[in-house]
Amino acid sequence: MAEEPRFKRILLKLSGEALAGEQGYGIDPVVIQDIAEEIRDVVRLGVQVALVIGGGNIFRGLAASSRGMDRASADYMGMLATVMNSLAMQDALEKLGVLTRVQSAIEMQEIAEPYIRRRAMRHLEKGRVVIFGAGTGNPYFTTDTAASLRAMEISAEVILKATRVDGVYDTDPMKNPDAVKFDSLTYLDVLEKGLQVMDATATSLCMDNQLPIVVFDLTEKGNIRRVVLGENIGTTVKG
Ligand code: UDP
Repeated sequence: MAEEPRFKRILLKLSGEALAGEQGYGIDPVVIQDIAEEIRDVVRLGVQVALVIGGGNIFRGLAASSRGMDRASADYMGMLATVMNSLAMQDALEKLGVLTRVQSAIEMQEIAEPYIRRRAMRHLEKGRVVIFGAGTGNPYFTTDTAASLRAMEISAEVILKATRVDGVYDTDPMKNPDAVKFDSLTYLDVLEKGLQVMDATATSLCMDNQLPIVVFDLTEKGNIRRVVLGENIGTTVKG
């Protein structure tokens, strides 16, 4: 019997760093190809996939502004970095025969469609992976917030937030061997305890609209598929 996915439409949030691999900067072609294969496997299940990719592997507005750059300008650079990542992912997916569209929140018609919600939904219905670039298009926001916003706009059933650890812990598991992992959390837990899931703006947006978030480990191969098929891995955040 064919495996039945738990979700019909998902929004997958990848940090920019996920694309950098061991080198810690830029885009590692092997790493991005591996992630693209995992996304292809999920598309093959018949799941509609939207993607938001961060830009932290190239440029972070906050880091640049703390070194003296104007914050808004630095944030626009960060948003441009997300477009570079989006184009790299588009290339990696299309090499595997997955149809894609990049939609940018900042118009740059030569390389990406502008963000048009109804068109994005049409692409998804046709089985194309839609990659949302340039975050929300506004400085002072993050791509986590962009992921929440777009997920809501396109009526995704869940945000899959890919990280390097296998869920949310009470303290940093990289530093503390006794850190305890949560299987599930409420939005308020995340906000009150200041847990590292998504920033407060993104978390509040999900809370106000009851959009579940699943935080899981991307470094383990096959995990995106596992989550989509309903395996209880990672940490689920919901009402
Ligand atoms: N950014 C922004 N508005 C947005 C999304 C992103 O200004 O709506 C900028 C911000 O400077 C941020 C950078 O883009 O630092 C990269 O995004 P983010 O830090 O969210 O990437 P990630 O940490 O997921 O790699």
